[in-house]
Amino acid sequence: MSDKLLQLEQLARRLEPSPEQRNSWNAQTQAYADDFINHIEILKAYDEPPPNGRLSLPVEEQGKPLEQLLAELRTRVDRAGINPASGGHLGYVPGGGVFPAALGDYLAAVTNRYAGLFFANPGAVRIENALIRWMCELMGYPDGALGNLSSGGSIANLIAITTARDFKGIKATRVEKAVVYLTGQVHHCVQKALRIAGLGEAAIRYIPVDEHFRMDTKHLHIQLEKDIFQGLEPFLVVGSAGTTDTGAVDPLDEIASLAEQFGLWFHVDAAYGGFFLLVDELKGKFRGIERSDSVAIDPHKGLFLPYGLGAVLIKNVRAQYDAHFYKANYMQDAQQDWEEASPADLSPELTKHFRGLRMWLPLQLFGLGPFRAALEEKVLLCRYFYQKVQECGFEVGPEPDLSIMIFRFRTTAEDSARFNERLLEYVRRDGRVFLSSTTIDGEYWIRLAVLSFRTHKREIDLCLDILMEGVAQVEKELASAGG
Ligand SMILES: *Cc1c(COP(=O)(O)O)cnc(C)c1O
Repeated sequence: MSDKLLQLEQLARRLEPSPEQRNSWNAQTQAYADDFINHIEILKAYDEPPPNGRLSLPVEEQGKPLEQLLAELRTRVDRAGINPASGGHLGYVPGGGVFPAALGDYLAAVTNRYAGLFFANPGAVRIENALIRWMCELMGYPDGALGNLSSGGSIANLIAITTARDFKGIKATRVEKAVVYLTGQVHHCVQKALRIAGLGEAAIRYIPVDEHFRMDTKHLHIQLEKDIFQGLEPFLVVGSAGTTDTGAVDPLDEIASLAEQFGLWFHVDAAYGGFFLLVDELKGKFRGIERSDSVAIDPHKGLFLPYGLGAVLIKNVRAQYDAHFYKANYMQDAQQDWEEASPADLSPELTKHFRGLRMWLPLQLFGLGPFRAALEEKVLLCRYFYQKVQECGFEVGPEPDLSIMIFRFRTTAEDSARFNERLLEYVRRDGRVFLSSTTIDGEYWIRLAVLSFRTHKREIDLCLDILMEGVAQVEKELASAGG
C-alpha cells in the first residue's frame, strides 16, 4: 500500500510543475500572446480555414512539449476562420477582448476561488454582486435589484424568462393560454430560451416593426386587447435595446406603459446595446429601460471583454431566487441568511468560474473613461460609414440607432442579391476586414457592426476601400460572363 501510494504520488506530483517549469511555460505563453497582439493589425480578420484543419494531436498517456501545442494552436486555430480580436472584425457582433481581462481569467484560474456561494468566498461574491449592482444602476434600477453574471447573453435571457414564467405563475396547464410578445427582429436565443423554459406551446405574437425596425406599439396594444378578449393570458413582452440585424432600439418607454397596463413582465434584451447607456448622448434612446423588470446585457460585447461574460439584471431579486434556488443536504453549511445573495441561488449554475474578475480588473485598471470614449467612437464610426458608403453608390437601411447598420450595392445587375453575395465573398477572400450578411423581409443585406475596441477610422476606411475594389471586381466578372 505504502509503496503503491509513493509510486502514484510521484506521477501525480507532475500536476504541480516546478517553479522553473512554470517560468518556462509562462514565458512561452506570454511570447505567444505578445506575438498575437503585436501583430493584430496585420493579422487577417478572416482566414480561409486550412484544407486539412483537423487537429493532429490526440490525448495520450504521455504529455507533449508546449512548443508543439502552441504551434498547433497557431496554425489550426488562431489563423483559421473569424478573428474576433481583430479591429477588422465588423460582422456579427464583435467585442475584441481587452488584455487585462485575460489577466483576470488567469488569476481566477490560478487561485480558483469559488464564486458560487457567499459562504465559500465572500470576496468573490461581493465583487460579482458589486458589478451586477453597477450595471443595475446604469439601467436606472432601484436599490435591491440584482441579477447574475452568466456565460453570455443567451443564458442571461434564459434566466430572465424562467424568472418571468414562475413569477407570473405560468405552470404546465396554463402554458397553452400564455402569450409572449416579440418582434421578428428579436435575437433567436429568446425563442430558444422560451422553448428550453417549457414555454414552447405558448403563443408567440410577432408584433410588426416600423420603418426603423422598432416595435410598433400601436400593434402591440391592439394585439393585447385581442388576446385578452379571447381569454388568453398575456404574461411577457420582450423588447430589444439594439437588435442584431440593424441595432434598432425598441420604444422601451411605450412598451413599459403597456406592460404596466396589462400586467406583463417586461424583459429587455440589451445584450448588444446595453453599454451604450454609458454615452450621455445616447441615453435618450433607452428611455423606459428603467421601467423594465429584467435586462440581458453582454459585457463580452459592449465592454470589449473576451467571450464568456453576459449578465442578467432583475429588479425583483426575490422572484429570481424563487425560480432558481434549491436546497440540498450536502449544502447545509452554506444555507444561512448571508448578507449577500449567492450566484448559485440565482442561476442554473452551482460551481462556476470566478468570471467577475475578468470584468472587475479592466474596469478598475482603465477606469470608465476609455470605455465611454470607445463606445461613442463606435457609434460615430458607424455614422461615418453610413454617409461614406452612400457616397460610394451603396443603398442603406435606416439611419443606425447605435453601431450596426445594413447596406448593399445599388446595382443594375438583375440579381442584386447575387451581386452583393459575390461582393461579400470578395471581402471574405481578401480577409482584412470581416462583414456578415442578413435577410430582412426576404431581402439580402450586408451588415456592418462596429463594436471592437480595436476598430478605429483606419479600419472603416479600409473596409470602404475593400468594398470598392470588390464592386469593381464583381462588375468585371459579370461583364466577362455576360460578354
Ligand atoms: C449576442 C446577442 C445575444 C446572445 O448572446 P450570447 O452572448 O451570444 O449568448 C442575444 N441578444 C442580442 C441582442 C445579442 O446581440
